[in-house]
Amino acid sequence: MSHSKDKITFNDVMELVKTYISNEEEITKIEKAYKFASSRHKGQYRKSGEEYIIHPLNVCKILTEIHADCDTLRAGLLHDVLEDCDCTNDEMEEVVGPEVTKLVEGVTKLSKLHFSTENDYLIEYYKKIIIGMSEDVRVIIVKLADRLHNMRTLWALPYEKQIKKASESLEILAPIAHHLGIHKIKSELEDLALRYLKPEVFYDIAEKLNKTKLERDRTVNLMMDEVKEILTEHNITFEMKGRSKSIYSIYNKLNKGKKFNELYDLLAMRIIVNTKQECYLVLGLIHAKYKPMPKRFKDYIAMPKPNMYQSLHTTVFGIDGYLFEIQIRTHEMDAVAENGVASHWAYKEHKDATASLQSTTEQKLQFFRSIIDLSKDKMSSEDFVNSVKNEVLNNNIYCFTPKGDVIELPNGATPIDFAYKVHTRVGETTVGALVNNSIVPLDYELKDNDIVKIITNKSSSPSQEWINIVKSTAVRNKIRSYFTRNEREIYIERGKEILEKELRKRKLSINNFFSDENCKKVFKESKVDNLDDVYFNVGNGKNTPNSIINIIDKPKEETQNLKKVALVKENTPDNNSNIIVSGIDKVKVNIANCCNPVYGDDIIGYITKGNGINIHRANCHNLAMLDSRTVEVNWNSNSNNTKYLSLFLIRSNSRDNHIADIVQKASMLGVMIDGINNIYQADSVFYDVSCYVTSIKQLDKLFFELNKETYITGIERLIR
Ligand code: MN
Repeated sequence: MSHSKDKITFNDVMELVKTYISNEEEITKIEKAYKFASSRHKGQYRKSGEEYIIHPLNVCKILTEIHADCDTLRAGLLHDVLEDCDCTNDEMEEVVGPEVTKLVEGVTKLSKLHFSTENDYLIEYYKKIIIGMSEDVRVIIVKLADRLHNMRTLWALPYEKQIKKASESLEILAPIAHHLGIHKIKSELEDLALRYLKPEVFYDIAEKLNKTKLERDRTVNLMMDEVKEILTEHNITFEMKGRSKSIYSIYNKLNKGKKFNELYDLLAMRIIVNTKQECYLVLGLIHAKYKPMPKRFKDYIAMPKPNMYQSLHTTVFGIDGYLFEIQIRTHEMDAVAENGVASHWAYKEHKDATASLQSTTEQKLQFFRSIIDLSKDKMSSEDFVNSVKNEVLNNNIYCFTPKGDVIELPNGATPIDFAYKVHTRVGETTVGALVNNSIVPLDYELKDNDIVKIITNKSSSPSQEWINIVKSTAVRNKIRSYFTRNEREIYIERGKEILEKELRKRKLSINNFFSDENCKKVFKESKVDNLDDVYFNVGNGKNTPNSIINIIDKPKEETQNLKKVALVKENTPDNNSNIIVSGIDKVKVNIANCCNPVYGDDIIGYITKGNGINIHRANCHNLAMLDSRTVEVNWNSNSNNTKYLSLFLIRSNSRDNHIADIVQKASMLGVMIDGINNIYQADSVFYDVSCYVTSIKQLDKLFFELNKETYITGIERLIR
């Protein structure tokens, strides 16, 4: 075994840093942190015999691979100084400032745990990780990098420690990396852990992979050459990679009873293109040439995984009859797939990448919210650890709302679990459920990919029986507390939840929103003196959530009637609008997103309160529910080539996958497919399509062409 790749110098690391950080001031700060760390670690050695500073240098190097920001890199270099070097927080703060010191403190807290029993230790470990993560997700990212390097050098530790560290990595740290979407770190942690926990299995798979490597590489290269030719012919700019499977993921599949030579994805490739539209185009081209394997197509672009992963997956019968797994995605999707939340550092258009990293973690990752929810519940530490392990980090199923939102649930979850995860209020008023359009009992066990519609009744309330039915501990506690809490507590909780949801819509996190300073303003304006009262008043309907949020975050336009609507836009020179509103010009118009009219449709305008005029299709049922504030509108026949979003549903009686065919028909007519998704139901298959067209003529033409196909039994434009 050679370990020479660990022996790096600070200059090696700086070279990597400089590939994405150019700010001189930041470079100087990183150098300063290194000097401080190396002077403090002087004379210390690791179990492997190397100078200690080699370890933080490697941690920093791992962090550069996910393009961590300046402060995180500094925290990586300094992460062991507080713990191992007899250095106080104040001393460190003097040299590197409070921000980085706080990060290092966070990492130190995670390692400082010593408990008599294994179980106590685990409980505290989880809690610290959770608290650390809710304070600053960068703490966990440094911890993951630290653990990864420790796992790489695990050979230097005694056997018992190897087993302990390896199982901890597999049980806690790899799942956290997975949920944060940091695939690179997750996958290496798993492989390293397997190597120590099941060496015979690990080396057996590694050897099999090795033996077949030449043959596999040759086949993949031949296939890639063919695909390259097709894409070049169609003038698509792309990047293409062969893809190797991690040993741990193969081990998992073998464990599920698969044979080594039955693993399709051993021959795998990835195509990276510039736009989402090109992803579907490439898919269409590939399916046109190679027969796709039924049921292996997955559209994670239209329906991203809960850790934000997006990609198209398909398996096709390629050259020489071999099966190839192909992934198609854009560059940005690729960055998210590799680095997850950390990819927010790489996309620098965000003004404050670090704030964006934290708010993405809070807003987009369900697992994060679930963990925070659990930590707030009053349950025994043992229950807590088991819930996090069994319900949040492992063994999840993914179900969908009718709108296509993904809800992550523990294995064995019921429609009641689902309803509470959507919203506590939905859970509390649940009276029934439809799963894939069939009525099911409330104790029905949901399966992966079920589409669940919850039926609610405002005046209904939870039943005691549910406590025994539900699977998720957090939901069970919510139901229990419903029966034990007084009314005020219920209102406070409801108010907080309503505010959280509204803030999320405006991309704000509740913790940042209720900063000390903002609280002062809110309390003064709403004449209360504590946060619970703010929640209580929202929960019982005295204040609307927006009236509270607007105290801090004022909406941009506040106009009340048509006259004002017209005035708002007076200064903007936007005269070539696509829509003519009779009686006025210079008015802001929006295409309604319930019925998505396209150029040429019969349309009606609806005057909104303060946001211009919404354009609906004349037959949109939402218009009937709106009051009389409609206005006559017409398409501007002089308007340019705007493309309009259109959503429609194709019903098919064939269970074969016709996505490629549909995409091809569309692209032949110049229709840009934006997303396409197939939904399998009992006796038919639906294709949920979104596309961009220039006019109703183009859309009708597409429908005409599609209707010629015998497998299509109906097409319907959607109105939501
Ligand atoms: Mn360390």
